[in-house]
Amino acid sequence: MNNPKRVAILGSTGSIGTQTLEVVRQHREEFQVEVLTAQNNFQLLIEQAIEFEPNAVVIANDEHYAAVRDELQPKGIKVFAGAKSIAQVVEMDTIDVVLTALVGYSGLIPTIHAIKAGKNIALANKETLVVAGEIITALAKEYGVNINPVDSEHSAIFQCLVGEFHNPIEKIILTASGGPFRGKDRDYLSTVTKAQALKHPNWDMGAKVTIDSASMMNKGLEVIEAKWLFGLQREQIDVVVHPQSIVHSLVQFEDGSLKAQLGLPDMRIPIQFALSFPDRLKSDFERFDFANFASLDFEAPDMDTFRNLRLAFDSLERGGNAPCILNAANEIVVEAFLKDQIGFLEMSDVIEEALTKVEYLKEPSLEDHIETDSRTRELAKELLLKIS
Ligand code: MG
Repeated sequence: MNNPKRVAILGSTGSIGTQTLEVVRQHREEFQVEVLTAQNNFQLLIEQAIEFEPNAVVIANDEHYAAVRDELQPKGIKVFAGAKSIAQVVEMDTIDVVLTALVGYSGLIPTIHAIKAGKNIALANKETLVVAGEIITALAKEYGVNINPVDSEHSAIFQCLVGEFHNPIEKIILTASGGPFRGKDRDYLSTVTKAQALKHPNWDMGAKVTIDSASMMNKGLEVIEAKWLFGLQREQIDVVVHPQSIVHSLVQFEDGSLKAQLGLPDMRIPIQFALSFPDRLKSDFERFDFANFASLDFEAPDMDTFRNLRLAFDSLERGGNAPCILNAANEIVVEAFLKDQIGFLEMSDVIEEALTKVEYLKEPSLEDHIETDSRTRELAKELLLKIS
């Protein structure tokens, strides 16, 4: 019996975080929770800490610090507050792997700290690679750490590559469910509400990624994430719409052979594989049954209607800080859409304008990315004022 892997879960109260704890609950001998962090949901953080007895917790919003400390400190759990503390706790000696399920850009700095401390990463925060993929992958190489994808499509590719790491990839095909608005036209999309956008047909996820799925930006971000995880060029990445979300993605090798990974849409499978790799652990998750799926459908994505996907491909091709601009503008417009401040299609308008107006840098440093991120946010907010 090996010692359990000691896991830090950044963003433990969100959708990925809670599902990660379900995985741990089924495999108490394989995994031990060392650190839990949450943004705002301090009640759930306290409950989780009482159940899983981590070494330390961080509540990012320091307004809730006293409440968390009063509950957990008497139990011998260290309690910290503030976003900066997240970047510090990941360096603890007792952590083997850091699962990053923070939302958006906020995952970047803690991930850098974790890599520099030599921690393997289970990456659920795709925005980190979108914003600074070149820097992150170079650091991972320098410090000899693995980045195992949690995103289901990238996990599928990762699983297809087991035993194939010496064989070049000809291309990958990322599947997309198409979200709740698949097949709709721009007229229809001009009037959709956030309630409609938040109803994803297959996956139960956090609000940000659900809106990104409806707008196809999620697939756009995943295209950029895939480039960095697997070292690919634009022409090696295809997207196909597959409404049932059973085929999670495919790899095509140089002999023309395609490998796919399939299963029910259940995030616990990729979460578990990212933590247990190279082993597979027994689970009681529901199994796929062909009897329930008479057909699996595939179609080309509509990049004229869902312009975000094209903007993402363009940003990937341009490189430099373009994906950072794309991501920052997207975070602002998604927030605005969730507050009913702009319409669904206007999200792409603002992102496109930000991409033309924020200064392009071909070889940005980390500081340049941080600067690009904040400039883009300011500009996107100005653009929003003009719209509303
Ligand atoms: Mg995904």
